[in-house]
Amino acid sequence: MNRPATHAPPFPARVTPGDPRADAEPLPELTEAERDTYGWQIEIAGFGENAQRRLKGASVLISRVGGLGGAVAQYLAAAGVGRLILAHAGPIQPSDLNRQTLMTHAGLGHSRIASASRRLKELNPHLEVVAVPENVTPTNVEALVAQSDIVVDAAPLFTERYTLNRAAMAARRPVVECAVYDLELHLTTVQPGLTACLRCLYPEPSSTWQRRFPILGAVSGVAGTLAALEVIKLVTGLEPPLTHQLLVGDLRTLSWRKLRTHRLADCPDCGMIQSGCSAP
Ligand SMILES: [Zn+2]
Repeated sequence: MNRPATHAPPFPARVTPGDPRADAEPLPELTEAERDTYGWQIEIAGFGENAQRRLKGASVLISRVGGLGGAVAQYLAAAGVGRLILAHAGPIQPSDLNRQTLMTHAGLGHSRIASASRRLKELNPHLEVVAVPENVTPTNVEALVAQSDIVVDAAPLFTERYTLNRAAMAARRPVVECAVYDLELHLTTVQPGLTACLRCLYPEPSSTWQRRFPILGAVSGVAGTLAALEVIKLVTGLEPPLTHQLLVGDLRTLSWRKLRTHRLADCPDCGMIQSGCSAP
């Protein structure tokens, strides 16, 4: 099911209780089985059944479902997000298995995206998965973003991240940006036209960045879990999301910093956007 590129999300990037845009599209009803499954989170203050219905009606694109994106996907599937669009190419390799918990030793040599899709469906059989056996490219990115309400960027390479950022800004889709290196994580939530985008934060790719980098699976898991929480906040309206700030976590010392982010007026990706993401 492709949505047109101009489709406005069924909720603005920041849903506030009572915001008339929040329920612009009818929310899906919950079944009794879903009320049972999600009862513990429905009881969270500020959550309630409408938040669960928003999750059920949401489509989230995740660029790469390795150590980082795989953790995002697992917790979004468990939380009851209705539809995940997953983009990841290639077969499972032995070196994936220290961190990519949607992959298995039994699946070595077989499709990563097939393994991720199967394991997520085992976790939540009601989840709809759009499994794309490709990484994000200039060719496929527009169609992928158009199908989503929110985008999660968990790709390892700047070129891929820039491609996704440009398309998400053009389509006015919020992006949860997450990254890991060694025992450090970075996380921020981008609202097109309101906050700094990836290109504002990193106008040029790091010259020292390599495809292979030191990483521990537990660090990817912490970062992915936090990124999933950001998506859940955006969808449900739980406040506050991590906007206008870059969270930097040093998991070696368990110390956290929040750095203020700033838009670049001449940003090639978001500089032309004058208002919020709900007005394409
Ligand atoms: Zn920007």
